Parts: sequence; structure tokens; C-alpha cells
Amino acid sequence: MSFGVMKEIKPGEERVGLTPAGAADLARGGCSVLIETGAGERAGFADELYLAAGADIVSREHAWAAHTVVKVKEPIAAEYGYLRDDLTLFTYLHLAADRPLTEALLDAGTLGIAYETVADATGLPLLQPMSEIAGRLAAHAAATHLMRPGGGPGLLLGGSPGVAPARVVVIGGGAVGTQAALLALGMQAEVTVLDMSPARIRQLDALLDGRARVLMSDAATVEAEIAHADVVIGAVLVPGRAAPKVVRREQLSLLRPGALLIDVAIDQGGAFETSRATTYDEPIFEVDGVRHYCVANMPGAVPQTSTRALTNATLPYVRRIAQLGVEQAIERDPALALGVNTRAGRIVHQGVADAFPDLA
Ligand code: NAD
Repeated sequence: MSFGVMKEIKPGEERVGLTPAGAADLARGGCSVLIETGAGERAGFADELYLAAGADIVSREHAWAAHTVVKVKEPIAAEYGYLRDDLTLFTYLHLAADRPLTEALLDAGTLGIAYETVADATGLPLLQPMSEIAGRLAAHAAATHLMRPGGGPGLLLGGSPGVAPARVVVIGGGAVGTQAALLALGMQAEVTVLDMSPARIRQLDALLDGRARVLMSDAATVEAEIAHADVVIGAVLVPGRAAPKVVRREQLSLLRPGALLIDVAIDQGGAFETSRATTYDEPIFEVDGVRHYCVANMPGAVPQTSTRALTNATLPYVRRIAQLGVEQAIERDPALALGVNTRAGRIVHQGVADAFPDLA
């Protein structure tokens, strides 16, 4: 069986679908691994590393001709021509928000397996690593943008001996929120985490073991907490829905001067009413004098780390496809089966079917 990995051409995307370690794993299993020239360069993986792993360095066309393509981002229009009916495409697809790609996959008859809908008892194993990275980056962003050179009020996140630390309020204590809280605590900030799931609150309480306050999220508590915060991190998620708005515009006046809102949930529409998506080129904007940091693709800043974390998560599934063939792998693994979005010209995922009833 052959696996193809190409250079991502979606603007701003520097990750790659497979690390050299992942390529070595597949090559050891007897697969042919076809890596497009320079595919991993921006993620820190030179062609020589893939060659040493037993992969072949090939043209883009050749990589796309593999049985299974392992990517990061959904194909963009320039890539639709590579789709075909005997291709398995394993990548982030986000089809419910992308009618042209859905149509292209259906027209081509491609078996489209979306990372974001692979689901097991622990949750969404192929989304979680990126959430964890975004959460840690949120703590970095907080530290950077509280400082003067970062446009902030001139606070050191962890304070200093004898000087109080900054206060960080994290709303939503899942994958993003937990890692944001842990890293902020590591930098000695004063941290409060709010969640609305009693079960999650108990887990967080045990995990954080008194080092952070863990509170039930309700409107009054959110309002009271943000009024004392130097940083508020939005990390809520209600699966399959737009993010709930936990801070409204009229509440911005409650915030301290210089306070920073970091909306990690911006890719789901944002946890703050006043958020809009930004990029690393211009990550921050102001509304009513309050700074908002709303970078929609935070892990894009750390393609080396993100690529390794992504391959760690995807490789067990890719390996299963290599060992069993895609049909058997889907049949035997309910988690992978939930990832199947399109097959033989039909939509087979309910969320995508709901988004495009006329195509289903
Ligand atoms: P998760 O499901 O692991 O955690 C979400 C948490 O929010 C849950 O614990 C849930 O109980 C809680 N929650 C829901 N509604 C709430 C409310 N009203 N108040 C308080 N808590 C509430 O999700 P996650 O993986 O941590 O992702 C969080 C968000 O971050 C998602 O929108 C995700 O898409 C986004 N994300 C963004 C980036 C980026 O680069 N900007 C990267 C990765 C993930």
C-alpha cells in the first residue's frame, strides 16, 4: 500500500501530514511512503530525514497518486483535480463549512475521512492535540501581551517575589483550558478556571489540587471573575454548535484597564460577543478600549511541535489502514468509522448531511 504526503499549500499552513518517524513506521511495515519534495521543510523536517526513514521524495502529482493521502488541511480548490474515486483522503476536512470541497469529494467519489470527526470514548483524539497546543500558546500570548513591548500594561504574568502575580481567568476547562491553566500556573500566575460541567469541575479540582480556583460557570460568577482579571481566556466548546457567548459587549466596561481577552474558541465563532478572527500578522484589535487576541489558527505558530503532536495522534489510525486496508480498518474501528464523511459519491456523516441536505 502507498501513502502520499504533500506540501500544504493553504496560505499560512506550515505543518505537514507525517513526520519522518511516522514515515519510518509505515516503511518498516512494508508500505511505500511518497513525500513531495520539501513537504516537511517548514516544519523542520528536511527531505533527507524522510529518505533516511525509507520514504521516497517525489513530485506533488506522484504523492497525490498514492492509495491514501495523509494531509493536515482540507484540499483547497487548486487541489480538487487530484481527487479520484480510488483515493482515501485522511485529513482535517471541516466539510459542514465547505460546500465546494464537499461537492468536489462527492463528484470524484473520494473516501474522505476527517480527523475532526474521529471520536472515541475519550472524545475527539485527533482534535485534542491541537487544542492542547492552542491552550499552552494562550498562556504564552498572555505573558507576551501583558508586557509593554507586547502592547500591554506592563505586567509580568508571575509577578515577582513580593509583588502579586497577574490574574488569569480561563472560561472552559477542557483540552484548551486545562493546558492554558497549567502553563499559566507554571509561570506562577494566579489562575481561576470556570466550567459548567459538574463532572469536569471535579476532574479539574483533583488535577489542579488547590493550585487554582475551580468554579462553576454561571453568568454572575463570570461577571464577578472577569472584573478582577488581567487576562480572560475563552476556551468553551459545545460540540457541533457555535461557541456560547460568555462575555457580552456591555461587560467590557467591567474589565480592568489594560486587561486582555484571548478568544481561543474563535474558530467556533468566539466566546466573547466582540471577537472576530485574526491572524499572527495582526493578532490583536481593540473594542471599547479592550484588547482582543483572536488568532484562529494558533498551532500554526509552532509547526514543528504541532506536526509531531498531530502524527502522534494520527499514526495509530494510519498504521491500522496500512495493516488492514481501509475497508477492514473502518469496519473494525468504530472511532475511525465516525471519521468517514464521504464515500463513493455520498455524504455519510450526519453533520455534513444536515449542512447540505440537497447533497445528501
Ligand atoms: P473541550 O470540549 O475539550 O472543552 C470545552 C469545555 O468548555 C468543556 O469542558 C465544557 O464543559 C466547557 N463549556 C461549555 N460551555 C461552557 C460555558 N458556557 N461556560 C464554561 N464552560 C463551558 O474543547 P477544547 O478542545 O478545549 O476546545 C475549546 C475551543 O478551542 C473550541 O472552540 C476549539 O475549536 C478551539 N480551538 C481553537 C484553536 C485556535 O487555534 N484558535 C485551536 C484548537 C482549538
